Amino acid sequence: MRKIQMVDLVGQYADIREEVRKSFDSILESAAFINGPEVKAFQEDLEAYLGVKHVIPCANGTDALQIAMMGLGLKPGDEVITADFTFAATVEVIALLGLTPVLVDVEPDTFNIDTEAVRKAITPKTRAIVPVHLFGQCADMETLLEIAREHDLFLIEDNAQAIGANYLFSDGRLQKAGAIGHVGATSFFPSKNLGAYGDGGALFTDDDALAHRIRGIVNHGMYQRYYHDVVGVNSRLDSLQAAVLRAKLPHLDRYCEKRRAAARYYNASFKDREGITVPTTVRSCEGICDTCDCHVFHQYTLRIGGGKRDALAKRLTEAGIPHGIYYPVPLHRQKAYADARYKESDFAVTNQLSEEVISLPMHTELDEEQLAYICRTVLEFIEQAEPSSGLI
Ligand SMILES: *Cc1c(COP(=O)(O)O)cnc(C)c1O
Repeated sequence: MRKIQMVDLVGQYADIREEVRKSFDSILESAAFINGPEVKAFQEDLEAYLGVKHVIPCANGTDALQIAMMGLGLKPGDEVITADFTFAATVEVIALLGLTPVLVDVEPDTFNIDTEAVRKAITPKTRAIVPVHLFGQCADMETLLEIAREHDLFLIEDNAQAIGANYLFSDGRLQKAGAIGHVGATSFFPSKNLGAYGDGGALFTDDDALAHRIRGIVNHGMYQRYYHDVVGVNSRLDSLQAAVLRAKLPHLDRYCEKRRAAARYYNASFKDREGITVPTTVRSCEGICDTCDCHVFHQYTLRIGGGKRDALAKRLTEAGIPHGIYYPVPLHRQKAYADARYKESDFAVTNQLSEEVISLPMHTELDEEQLAYICRTVLEFIEQAEPSSGLI
């Protein structure tokens, strides 16, 4: 059996090797490293793929989130509601801009922001909601759009983990993750579903005026060279990364389908096993998610009950199976983001998830032998750990 990787970027490279090398050669010959034709071409390809009017490339996903908030004109003191159960980048940029992060709990089944908790957290100072499409499927955007409309709030999608996912509205309409709210932010970090060979990110919006502001902000607030109309940052996608992304984009749907195939294999092995909860797909997709594309499984995340998660992690390590705990500490308990306003009882789900979640290897190159070995190892552990469950 081939060695199991958490993410296998080497295997994926084989497919696009010729194309990437050819583009790299031409970029090296032309020396158009920043804002070269590759960046523009990738931007247009991604606009077409997402069905969004404007894609603005930038240096990484964290910057994309920060620039979205700058572009919307959020000011110190403004409250921004986001999920307690996410990667710290989401809340980091809120704090960095002097805005007030308001963390709320998530749903136990989808791991995504709890819309009821969002409603409860709204105050006269609230200006924006940042749903994170965690592990590859959209938060409940239909409800969030409604809340945003009712309270006149901006909806900023953190789409770092769900590029390529569709969102199914109750009227049957499909829209790409990240292209639903006022503005979407994504990351092209190498291990993301659409990953560069270094850092990268982008913003998406249909709003012409916002797109214009953002295009200035990413480039020192300049619309004309050396005329700085707004305070900006230096956040650009370089041409070499754009070339990689451009080569990969036509394969993105296939990559996502391979991830889903691995997820289906895991689901079939683990479902209905006591002590294991498999990830749930969104309500609107119920029953059809085996064939539709609403979940792109950036991570395949199990919940292991009964306090056995850490012992399973140890067993997997012994068996040579990489795994991840995303995320071991809820954000409201992080030193940097702790706040006297937060009550533990408001974060019951996140607190429990942080003790139960474990993510299994998930990428485009997993083969059946590897998947079978991973499933066998997990099931053997569960059966031994729970002799009374009758699973043996
Ligand atoms: C990866 C990630 C980011 C940050 O992206 P970078 O490109 O690493 O800056 C933000 N939010 C979430 C949810 C992520 O997973």
